[in-house]
Formats: sequence, C-alpha cells, structure tokens
Amino acid sequence: MTNARGPGRQIVLGGLVLTMNARGDTFAPGVVVIDGPRIAHVGPEASWSPDPGDDLVDCHDQLVMPGLVNTHTHTCAALFRGLAEDRSRAAWAGYTLPWQDRAGAEAYHFGSILGALEQLTSGVTCIADRFSYMDTCAEAFDRVGIRAVVGHTLFDIGGALEWPRAVALLERWGTAPESRVHAGLAPHAPDTCSDDLLRRIRIEADARAARVFIHCAQSEAEVAAVRARGHTGPVHCLAATGLLGPDVVAAHCIYVDAGEIRRLAATGTWVAHCPASNAKTEGRLPPVAAMLDAGVAMALGTDWAPSNNGMDLFDEMKSAGLLNKVGAGDPAALPVDRLLAMATIDGARALGLDGYIGSLEPGKLADVITLAMDAWHLLPWHRPAATLVYSAKGRDVRNVWVDGRRLVRQGQAADWSLATIRGEIARVWRDLRAGKSVSRSSAVR
Ligand SMILES: [Zn+2]
Repeated sequence: MTNARGPGRQIVLGGLVLTMNARGDTFAPGVVVIDGPRIAHVGPEASWSPDPGDDLVDCHDQLVMPGLVNTHTHTCAALFRGLAEDRSRAAWAGYTLPWQDRAGAEAYHFGSILGALEQLTSGVTCIADRFSYMDTCAEAFDRVGIRAVVGHTLFDIGGALEWPRAVALLERWGTAPESRVHAGLAPHAPDTCSDDLLRRIRIEADARAARVFIHCAQSEAEVAAVRARGHTGPVHCLAATGLLGPDVVAAHCIYVDAGEIRRLAATGTWVAHCPASNAKTEGRLPPVAAMLDAGVAMALGTDWAPSNNGMDLFDEMKSAGLLNKVGAGDPAALPVDRLLAMATIDGARALGLDGYIGSLEPGKLADVITLAMDAWHLLPWHRPAATLVYSAKGRDVRNVWVDGRRLVRQGQAADWSLATIRGEIARVWRDLRAGKSVSRSSAVR
C-alpha cells in the first residue's frame, strides 16, 4: 500500500489500466489516483487503499488510458464540416474558403467550442491547433478545458503578414509547456512563406522556446513553387531556412523524396501524419513505411473537419493502419502498437509535452480517459492495442480528465449542453448566410 495523503483525490478503478509507459505496463484490474491536477499513483488495484474522503470512480467495466494527442488540426473549422466532398484540394477551397473569409471571431469561437467538445468527448485531451483568429479559438479551448498548443497562421506570399497577431498570441498565452493552453509559431507552408519569413520564425522560436508548426509537401503545386525559388523540395526549403529540428512539427509531408526523408530523420523533425485528410483531399499518402524505416519521428493528426470529416483519433488510427497497408502493399505496415503510441506518447513527444502527458505515470498531469469494454463491437479483449486501433470508436469514451478536471462523465460533456451549442452554431450560420458576420481579414489555415 502506497498512500500519499491529500484532500480531494479521485480514485479511478479500472478493469484494465493501459499506462503507455516505457515498460508497457498494464494492470487488470488497476487503479489511477488523481491528486489535484496530477497523477499520484498508478498500479494494480490492490496497491492502493482508499481513504474515507476519496472520490471513488468505479470504472471496473472500462479501460483506463492516457488521453489522445491530435498533433495537427484546425478545430474551429468544425463549422465547415460536410461542405467539401469528392473534390480536389483546389476545388474544395472554392466551397469552404468563401465562408472562411466571411466568418468572424464569434463564428470561430463557437466553431472551436463545437470542435473541442467533439474531440474531448471522443478521448482527445490535447491538440496542436492553428488558424487565424487564434486568440478567440484559444479562449474557447480554455473555456472547454482541453489542452492546446495554439499558433496564429503566418504567411507572406499572396497575402498579409500577420506577425503582430502571432506575437500577441505568444505574449498572452506564453510558451510554458506545463500551461494547459500555450502558444507556438505557425508558419503556413514553404510555398506560402518566403525564406526570409521562415528564417525569422526560427529566430523567434529560439528566443521564446516556442514550438513550430507548419504544413509541408501537401501538394505538387507546393513542390513546384519552392523549386521555382531554388529549393530542391519543401523539406530542403525548411532545411535551408533552419526550420527542421525536434521542435518542429511538419504536417502531411506527402511529396518528399529519399533525401528529404533522410533529412527529416537526421534532424528529429516530427511529421504529423494525417491519413484521412491526405486520402480525401489529395488521393495520395506520404511514404510512411519508408519514413518509419528511416527513423522519422511520427505522430497522428486529423487535420480539419472539412477534409476528414471529424476529429476522432480512434478513426485516425484505423485509417492510418488500413491506408498505409494499402500504400505499402504490405499487411505488416504500421502495426497496432506503433499506432497506439503515435496517438498517445509520441503525440506528446511531438508537442514537447512527454514530460507532462502521453502516459499514465506518477507526477504527470492527469489527462486520463476511460472507454467502455463491455460492448458488442469490442468483445472479447484478446489484445487491447488491436481492439483500440481497429474496433474502438471515439463514442466508446466514457470519462475524460484534463489536468485532473473531469470534463466528460459517462460519455457526456459535463459542463456543456449540446442543445445550447447547436443553437449557437445555427445562429452563426444564419448570420453568415445573411452576410452579417464579415471578417476583418482573410482567414487562412
Ligand atoms: Zn492543416
């Protein structure tokens, strides 16, 4: 028995506790003790004796695991879900971008609440999120209680440079990794950012110890544009401007050559793999098997709602497994244990947060989820990683804690009414269609 005393502890008793720690410990039955914002103890159920004041959360029919980490999304674009089907990236931009430009801060605030609650109730406890209007998006994440690293999208080719807004976001939310909502730098992509801007972002990132988030090698047009500027490819462009490294998360990386894969691996640059979005908007996948063979660090992202059409990381694990087996012509590609790590501890590593989240270990912040185990589509539980990747859904999530706060109870957002948010979203769309909500500047991803 290893009781450390403290008031208001929550004792989560689980049928199966999957820690995702380095030893791969599981406990059945197990216990996770949450003391304030942190995990105080993880172990077999018999390793803890509750005190009279403890809040016992009986999850004996549930699996307990770390919250999932979505390393690339634009949550507020939940507003545009279902607007861009069966078209190329260039074509669907014509269907969503007009609304994107017309929507204003209030629309994006409620879009962020909708998307954050979608993610939270499906087990995503941490997101790396980037868009315009990030201050109002960050406020929404703070209200909802989800963990978020936020970045204001910067670009200077074909549009405005919004450096002061990006700096204001950094000033307001800071870059401290233990802070539940904090900021990073978010250049849009190598083809929309000049070399000078990319170099300036490296200097700023170093000065502030800020993480950098960028789209990379999303389209053949992007490759052509950076070649026109004298670079061999998008990753080479990032290398030349100082924007490769373990503090950089490059989303997509579809069109990369062997030399670029080697550079990604050698520099420890993170790739946010977004398989559903890549399939839907590009009809192409990155060379994931080659990247993993080369030792490229990879995590998972859902990208935005128009190209997915949701932000459920259980879906994304399954999509990544299936699509990459097809892509590689190899059923052994992307095994379940790797996928589960990409959605949890490796996602935390990508965001520089593995000292705080990503696994259930004493001293880490209590970002914890539980899932139903007793369901038609989940039984029997031969191998938890296989069931979680290929059978479980976000809607199987029952309880969610972030920073020790229980934000989802029995599958429902504890502090939010779906009817209220549905009403706000309907009102936003009435105003948008009536032309009432006009933005001050172009909204970009
Ligand atoms: Zn994106």
